[in-house]
Amino acid sequence: MERTTAQPLRTCIGCRRTAARSELLRLVMDRGDAQRVVADPRRRLPGRGAWLHPDQACLKQAVRRRAFHRAFRGPVDISGVDDFFRSSVSAAAGPDTVQAESGSEI
Ligand SMILES: [Zn+2]
Repeated sequence: MERTTAQPLRTCIGCRRTAARSELLRLVMDRGDAQRVVADPRRRLPGRGAWLHPDQACLKQAVRRRAFHRAFRGPVDISGVDDFFRSSVSAAAGPDTVQAESGSEI
């Protein structure tokens, strides 16, 4: 039996591969500050969004191809996305650090 995923596919603006929404990080324009793009890990923020793998390589590719500019139709500030990657991805990135997730307070 094949597993059919009913999830809609989205395209990563970095590597341009399609993936299920749950595998991609949603990015949206911050409504309070019109040119700032922020990560929306809960996929709840309204507004124009773009999708990116939670991967630094994809972020770099997206920056290099000006994919943010294209996705949001203009120049945007992605420092918020950068911050998100630095705080969350770096915590989960290295295979060595995975085990430190819990039980480290002993
Ligand atoms: Zn990607």
